Amino acid sequence: MSSIVISEFMDAQAVEDLRARFDLRYEPGLVDDAPALRQALAGAQALIVRNRTQVRAELLDHAPGLRVVGRLGVGLDNIDMDLCARRGIRVIPALGANAQAVAEYVIATAMLLLRGAYASSAQVAGGAWPRPALSEGREIGGKTLGLLGFGDIGRRTARLGQALGMQVLAYDPVVAAHAPVWRETGVQRRELDALLRECDVLSLHVPLTESTRGLLDAPRLARMREGAVLINTARGGVVDEAALADALRAGRLGGAALDVFEHEPLPAGSALAGVPRLLLTPHIAGLTRESNLRVSSLIAEQVGAFLRG
Ligand code: NAD
Repeated sequence: MSSIVISEFMDAQAVEDLRARFDLRYEPGLVDDAPALRQALAGAQALIVRNRTQVRAELLDHAPGLRVVGRLGVGLDNIDMDLCARRGIRVIPALGANAQAVAEYVIATAMLLLRGAYASSAQVAGGAWPRPALSEGREIGGKTLGLLGFGDIGRRTARLGQALGMQVLAYDPVVAAHAPVWRETGVQRRELDALLRECDVLSLHVPLTESTRGLLDAPRLARMREGAVLINTARGGVVDEAALADALRAGRLGGAALDVFEHEPLPAGSALAGVPRLLLTPHIAGLTRESNLRVSSLIAEQVGAFLRG
């Protein structure tokens, strides 16, 4: 029997479906126990990970029989893709399976940041009535949504934004100006500087690569519209966190939400602590009950088929 190692959490039913057909070790804590993970991989043919297991030479050197890596998500920056290709190891991401969860997170967060009105529960329950302070919120209808990256998640986010009456612009140099998707979706193509200047809500949907690392640095943040809000569900490292903290403290931006960070979890003394109008979530934009089922069953099915094939 082929052996499968799963080093981060996976839906229970999908694990059982695999266990019925393969020799399997499921230990969601293995990601934090490097020696045990290396040992577990000695006889493994398949490894299933989320985004925390670093699949690089120091791990792969302990996995001589590895044939396939299943990724419970889509970002591949924790996997050395070149090395996997050289060693003939197939990498299977869960394409599309958590995109709806991310798109909904972006729109909900944009509405929350623009309206700025949902943090008064304790005050109202305590008998206060902070109506004047909360009467200046903004509507999402009629605003301009700027998408940095126009792939699967960017396109779903565009559809949700348009349904709420937003105008949508996108910057994605890989999608050619003549590609049918612009006409089909009604999303307008922009260069990066124009996108930054024109949008009220900027949402990032690019992979972390050499071309996107540090893309939203201090000068580019300074080009954003006064009062605009920024949402990063893509990857930490795309936005300069210290520069973003400065822009929020200076009151130049209307708010920001970060789901992903340069270092996860955040180190003590992070520049993001105590910054006003900043929402922080622990890399959960793509995680919902529904997406976890879709992602896990898709990877179980495809890794199983690969091993059998
Ligand atoms: P995708 O591959 O469908 O789309 C990415 C798009 O980015 C592509 O169209 C590509 O052309 C574009 N791109 C690449 N380099 C660019 C650049 N320098 N400038 C502008 N555009 C560029 O991927 P997707 O499914 O839309 O996911 C996007 C990213 O979202 C993933 O790579 C992952 O890092 C992140 N993600 C995060 C979560 C979460 O829970 N926070 C969940 C899923 C995905």
